[in-house]
Amino acid sequence: MSDCLFCKIANKEIPSEKIYEDDVVFAFKDIDPKAPFHGLVIPKMHFPSVKEMDEERAKIVGHMVMVGSRIAADQGLDNGFRMVINTGEDGGQTVDHCHLHILGGRSLQWPPG
Ligand code: 5GP
Ligand code: ZN
Repeated sequence: MSDCLFCKIANKEIPSEKIYEDDVVFAFKDIDPKAPFHGLVIPKMHFPSVKEMDEERAKIVGHMVMVGSRIAADQGLDNGFRMVINTGEDGGQTVDHCHLHILGGRSLQWPPG
């Protein structure tokens, strides 16, 4: 999608602090971190959210989780971390390109409110 912020970040039209990249996903640091470590893993293929899933998207989201887990290990988040996929307006989603948050580096409260 030509007008999507995260498509532009994945295409490097907009700069970001890259963490990891492969053929399927791009991972980068959140511009407004909510924890000492706050990364985002996004699919290179645009789809808006996990509201509408199919087998292809499920495979991609599974890969996002695997990459997120490896990033957490690389970041030394051995005491734990949180993965979040905000979905839709009530879910607090502000960018309509599916993304996985990886948060860690301090004790995180639950529920988030
Ligand atoms: P959401 O609220 O949709 O779950 O998450 C969107 C996230 O993207 C937010 O945590 C926000 O800080 C981050 N974000 C928004 N714009 C940019 C940007 O231009 N660059 C980076 N690195 N992160 C962004
Ligand atoms: Zn997009």
